[in-house]
Amino acid sequence: MDYSGRQRRLSAQLVSRQQVSRQVDALLVTHLPNVRYLTGFTGSAAVLLASAKPLFFTDGRYREQAAQQVRGAKVVIPRGSALSAAVKACQAQRITRLGVEADRMSVSQFQALRRELGKGVKIVPLVGVVEALRAVKEPGEVKLIRQAVELSSSLFPALVKALKPGQTELSAAARLEYLARHSGAEGMSFETIIAAGSRSALPHGLASPARLPRRGFVVLDYGVVNQGYCSDMTRTVHLGRATARERAVYAAVLEAQLAGINALRPGATCGQVDEAARRVLRRAELAKFFTHSTGHGVGLEIHEPPRLGAKGEAVLQAGMVVTVEPGAYLPGRFGVRIEDMVLVTATGAEVLTPVDKALMELL
Ligand code: ZN
Ligand code: ZN
Repeated sequence: MDYSGRQRRLSAQLVSRQQVSRQVDALLVTHLPNVRYLTGFTGSAAVLLASAKPLFFTDGRYREQAAQQVRGAKVVIPRGSALSAAVKACQAQRITRLGVEADRMSVSQFQALRRELGKGVKIVPLVGVVEALRAVKEPGEVKLIRQAVELSSSLFPALVKALKPGQTELSAAARLEYLARHSGAEGMSFETIIAAGSRSALPHGLASPARLPRRGFVVLDYGVVNQGYCSDMTRTVHLGRATARERAVYAAVLEAQLAGINALRPGATCGQVDEAARRVLRRAELAKFFTHSTGHGVGLEIHEPPRLGAKGEAVLQAGMVVTVEPGAYLPGRFGVRIEDMVLVTATGAEVLTPVDKALMELL
């Protein structure tokens, strides 16, 4: 990965922001996935002063790892806190306007920063600056994401096999997660969702001690991490034969999902994609059961910009990787969600998730 190139693109952004009041000399990067994106560091404690002379601060535990991983910034292991060291560096570099990641910093960090910086430096709260760069993936990142998607997809048949009436959702999740690590995943990209029977109506039904019923839907939503990059997929299968109503809801959700994918192209807004999927469910009188947004960006984090929500004004660009995941959740009865990861290409979109989406009945 070209970390110096990323930092150059960030610097260009910082000085050329549309509003002059938002322009800064440097950005104090405290959100770890952003630090990783800009330097390659994968540890759990670090601060990056992204300036003309970028400095990376961590603590003694990471001396060796930082020396091995960090690119595009000088590594500093200060005696005191990383934040205090960053303050001193701001003064040494004569920074007068310092951007901070306003949605990533705690109140106490902010207060300490303001106290230590004194009056000479203006703190400018910014939101989503590095995240905006991250939203458009480089070819090297797309490759890692593809590998993550392929790995998680390859586990799907074994997961389906582990779904036996009477087994707990947790034991099916355990089987999946064991196989994931065994196949080379660094870990799961979020807590596995396995929600069966009436629990399938919970959009975020984490795997629980509940036992799988003889018949009913099972929502399976999971992903893996491959060299830092996440995957995310959902399939909803049916134990036993589905009723006519269950089939109709499944068909509507699938049609909505395909409509969402069809609307994905560079230049389309996030809101247009969301509306394309939502319209199908409205026609099927299921819109009130579709209670979340249609999708989200995926990369170093499982949820990152852009968000494909109603009225989302962000414009899609080639290189973005997003999920398309409409669902319908009938409280107390059942739920269905279908989710793929999709790459926005120069001309449209490429579905990355290869797993079949026809209704699967496990008899
Ligand atoms: Zn998911
Ligand atoms: Zn998702």
